[in-house]
Amino acid sequence: MSGRIRRAFGSLICVAVAAGILTGCVSSSSKATDAPEKLEKSIADGRTLVPDITRDTLSLPGKDESESAKTPAKTTTPKTSDTKNSTDKDDVIGGSLVDPAKYIPDPGARIKIVLDPGHGGVHAGASYDGISEQDLNLRVALLCRNYLITHYSDVAVYMTRSTDRELDPTLKVDLEERARVAELANADALVSIHFNASDKHDLHGSIVYVSRRDNVNEESSLLGEQILGRLEDLGLENHSISTRDSNDLFDKDGNPYDYYAINRHCASRDIPGIIVEHAYIDNEEDRPFIDSEEDLAAIAEADALGIAAHFELTLY
Ligand SMILES: [Zn+2]
Repeated sequence: MSGRIRRAFGSLICVAVAAGILTGCVSSSSKATDAPEKLEKSIADGRTLVPDITRDTLSLPGKDESESAKTPAKTTTPKTSDTKNSTDKDDVIGGSLVDPAKYIPDPGARIKIVLDPGHGGVHAGASYDGISEQDLNLRVALLCRNYLITHYSDVAVYMTRSTDRELDPTLKVDLEERARVAELANADALVSIHFNASDKHDLHGSIVYVSRRDNVNEESSLLGEQILGRLEDLGLENHSISTRDSNDLFDKDGNPYDYYAINRHCASRDIPGIIVEHAYIDNEEDRPFIDSEEDLAAIAEADALGIAAHFELTLY
């Protein structure tokens, strides 16, 4: 591990929030306490989630609906009055001119990707000088979805959120719900989109966190390397793939769970779930990469190209 990476570990803010151990971007010294058993209990209370369902987000079912909802065709049906039938859907996605506002993921697509714009709603991410991480995350995720669905014919893209909202007011629950979206979508991968900040504003570059678990580590790492390579092509420094162990969560064999909730909850569902920290919003070297919509589109394209390369997506 390089000194550079060790420094990055010491002051990561955004991903500490993503780990479910902070309620805001104030410190990285808190300990993870969201034991999986507690989370299982908290989500098994029969709630129906995501009242503001949009076309590309999945309605997370309550306990009574959980079995039937595992059928993708049911879970992807919008509840709103603008539900489209399959013929209309074919018209929408059967070419390169896809309107993201009308896009409905095809549950039969060869590859299914969940894009997870980190934070949102009551769960604030990093912020600096008027820049809101949760806003950047959402904009990049939407641009990435747009790129994927307009360039590749064999991918379905789901979003954990497509507006500035939380999935659950309780952070620990919110983070597991994101993994549940991937589970319901039968996703091949979940890509959680983030931007970083550091205490002293002296860190820059991109890093990807993956689960240390054997069932998903290799594929997560390969996917992350593809994305990091494209971000590096833009000029962002590549801090490579990393894992982080929980300090106090261990399985029955004594092996630590992943520190970050997204990694942990996706791994428990056999889904590669990676956290992409694209750049530091508070650093002079990285700011030029996020200054405009064109910059964000370039970052989103890098993500999309990395996903496409890893899954060998087919161009229209
Ligand atoms: Zn974040």
